[in-house]
Amino acid sequence: MQVEIYDTLSRKRRPLEPENNTVRIYHCGMTVQARPHVGHLRGYIVMDAFRRFLRHTGYEVKLVQNITDIDDKVIEKSRAEGIDWRMLAERNTRELLDVTAALNIEPPTVMSRATQHIEEIIDLVKKIIDAGHAYEASGDVYFDVRSYPKYGKLSGKNVDDLMEGVRKDVADNKRDPLDFALWKAAKEGEPFWHSPWGRGRPGWHIECSAMSTHYLGLGFDLHAGGEDLVFPHHENEIAQYESATGKPFAKAWMHVEMLNLRGEKMSKSTGHVVLAKEVLERYEANVLRLYTLRIHYRAQTEYTMDGMDEARSAWERITNFLAEVKSALTERSVATSYPEFEAALADDFNTPKAVGLIFDLVRDGNEALAEGGTENLADISSKLNLGLKLLGFEPLEKQDSSDELDKILALVADFRAELRAAKAFEWADKLRAMLAESGLEIKDTKDGTRIRFK
Ligand SMILES: [Zn+2]
Repeated sequence: MQVEIYDTLSRKRRPLEPENNTVRIYHCGMTVQARPHVGHLRGYIVMDAFRRFLRHTGYEVKLVQNITDIDDKVIEKSRAEGIDWRMLAERNTRELLDVTAALNIEPPTVMSRATQHIEEIIDLVKKIIDAGHAYEASGDVYFDVRSYPKYGKLSGKNVDDLMEGVRKDVADNKRDPLDFALWKAAKEGEPFWHSPWGRGRPGWHIECSAMSTHYLGLGFDLHAGGEDLVFPHHENEIAQYESATGKPFAKAWMHVEMLNLRGEKMSKSTGHVVLAKEVLERYEANVLRLYTLRIHYRAQTEYTMDGMDEARSAWERITNFLAEVKSALTERSVATSYPEFEAALADDFNTPKAVGLIFDLVRDGNEALAEGGTENLADISSKLNLGLKLLGFEPLEKQDSSDELDKILALVADFRAELRAAKAFEWADKLRAMLAESGLEIKDTKDGTRIRFK
């Protein structure tokens, strides 16, 4: 199957054409100066579902996600909190791992941390200097933007326009205000590593150029990240690598749009955020996954509680249907292929269309249930199971509502049946009312009585 993705660099759709059947992807992860917010999760959920789909089509996927654990902001924040910068980075990284695990996001093939790749970063800075595209100034190293004529090719910005918005900062050692730091000399009390230019630390952009190619090689298949990283972060990543090697960096670029809050980008630095943990305390992980994937990854969207409540009802339509199917069919099957669904995902990862197909199946399935035929129902539910699996909706049940809960509910149902058999109707009705108050309903089916959440 030909999988196409809109490539930010060529500004058109491009087929993925991996060598040796392995799609090599680098996905820019979080800078861990603060706790992860729900805006971060959009990219992680999209990439998780995309990776599952690629594997379904027969590809191997090598996914590298980075953690920027050293950065000006990490240093500033740790000072403000009065803790060691390593502790701050570790604490926020841990929380990111917790929330991504709760969301059933598979760990990447490699999670690379900037602080563990200082050697590769220094090597790349040296190469850029040797190629004549960077210079050292009092322990800092800067990329010489004007020496690289292709600068701006990803974002479509041109150097002269960029100059308009730039303020010459008298305090730094740049030759040109457009130049950006590859290496920063350590000031008093700042963390540092030894380098040919003295004690210092890497700039943010160079970390990703060095780590991506370290793990994935030159000309890897896809570089992904949030739309807000196109400029300057990704533009600079390209300039750094291509100026040093003269070879193409990544074959295609995939950018996931922002999840905004009240019309504005969520931002750790201004505190205009909804924390990931808070969302997961209020909603089941699959509800957030549905909320995310119902919108195309290239469309901006908003995080709202009303929207999340709607997603919760929609998700319940799916799980209620699956519960009905469970009692109507003896076996749970998963289709091996569902061409319409696969075609939607191969077409620039059109998840809204795929999610639409899932709800079509639920509607058709409910009709089949009403008619009582099981053959059609089996076909519908096996397609649905495949669709849910491909988008990463697993486990389907609430994590805390495991089999144990089912067993207890079955016991309560049996007890009510005993009451009725003993003609203790008043008590049986009382039990029904008590269950209803807790949001549970009793359903009498031909196979007996079942209790479920309304
Ligand atoms: Zn990056």
